[in-house]
Amino acid sequence: MGNISTATESSFDVLESYFKKYPDVPKETILKQHMLSLGHWFSDAALDASAGALVKSYRLFSYDLVPMSEFKRGEHRRVPEHFVLLNGPYDMRPVAIQTSLSPYSPYLIDVVDGRLVLTVDGQVVAHVRIPKTPDYYFKNLPDGTPYHEIIAFGSFITIFRNCQYWGAKEECKFCDINENARQMKLSRDFTLNAPVKSVADVVKVCEHVAGDAQKIGAGQNFVLSGGTITKTLHSKSEVDFYEEYIRAIKNIATQPRITFEVNARPREEVQRYKDAGADHIHFNMEVWDKTLFPWINPGKAERVGWDNWVRWMEDAVEVFGNGMVQPSFVSGVEMARPHGFKTVEEAVKSMTSGFEYLMSRGIFPRPQQWRREPSTALCKEAEQPPVPLDYYILMTRTWYELYQKYRDKLPKFGTRKPGLLAERNLLGPVHGAYGDFAMIKENLFPEDVEEQINRRSVPFENIAGAASVS
Ligand code: SF4
Repeated sequence: MGNISTATESSFDVLESYFKKYPDVPKETILKQHMLSLGHWFSDAALDASAGALVKSYRLFSYDLVPMSEFKRGEHRRVPEHFVLLNGPYDMRPVAIQTSLSPYSPYLIDVVDGRLVLTVDGQVVAHVRIPKTPDYYFKNLPDGTPYHEIIAFGSFITIFRNCQYWGAKEECKFCDINENARQMKLSRDFTLNAPVKSVADVVKVCEHVAGDAQKIGAGQNFVLSGGTITKTLHSKSEVDFYEEYIRAIKNIATQPRITFEVNARPREEVQRYKDAGADHIHFNMEVWDKTLFPWINPGKAERVGWDNWVRWMEDAVEVFGNGMVQPSFVSGVEMARPHGFKTVEEAVKSMTSGFEYLMSRGIFPRPQQWRREPSTALCKEAEQPPVPLDYYILMTRTWYELYQKYRDKLPKFGTRKPGLLAERNLLGPVHGAYGDFAMIKENLFPEDVEEQINRRSVPFENIAGAASVS
């Protein structure tokens, strides 16, 4: 199990060795996890081919393995929010991947023989689709604020663009929300408005986006997120502040589904979120191990604490129902230096116990991969090499085994309507491979999935110009 891949060792042969080592694991999830771990890069030709793409929003974290100041070709305003891998020499089923840039990665999105592809050390391993910009991205509010500043990629609303957990004593150690906002400002390449969006503006854009989805017979889910409010914001407590947005969005004509991300809170507050109209609640716990929790999440440990976090998730199931409480985990962070687990076995064992505990109680854990963003406290505190790919593969396989065991209490995959962005609803989540694992194992894709993705992609074949590597 000591097979540790690093950026320098990574190559086509290393990837193939993992395919052979884990024949029962979908190749697609192994590839996705390696790409999220090492990042990926775009050739000049691929950047040109991305014209008209849904451009990466940087609306919360950067998800990049290098700072924006290293981008010399305006990558941060040209690369897509996410992309889809499919087909190619391994005949892959589609998986969607959040763009996580690193010029040092062996994974390069390129144009070869007029086709958008993913290469590893120059060898094509899959074909690529890049989503088109949705029409609403071209609209502005009367004060000039672009609609996409309010709602990114058709669903994501960062209501409060900062976090009141500030500095080493409070900020989660893997998080670059505050640093990311600073680098966006420094770049002068983003239209940045006030960190808080007004309820009226949010409702207006939600109505428009939900209307666009309705026109194509698609479903609509909004994810409401934002930084922690430890004291007050606009003279309101966290629950008073966020509840108003949830209620207002739920009350638009289409009554969209609402997912809300927030700190774990006691039952009375959770009930208020539910009553206001939230359908799912994400108490993002980030790391399961009780001793690592205060190191990784000092603000959450101080304000809530591990015991309360877990207890309040269980209480929230009584309010929201089985499968509706969905904490995310920054998977791999339990192996961060210097205090994380030293072996893959220990890290997998810890997450396995967490998954079992949560799933058996109707809580749906979402392992999303750690991206090792350079301005985070973790990366400043110690050198952080890539987490062994074995960890991600074994952790996800265990997740799926437990999902099968407790699936009666957990959400089902493959049941969602396409939405404005087909790939975000028809495929697994972009930040981790747990959903893809289940979808591929059980073949839960609609028959016309490729057609639906192609229809909403920028041109991906017969592209003029030769391959160019940058
Ligand atoms: S709560 Fe933690 S992860 Fe979330 S925005 Fe604040 S510092 Fe970042």
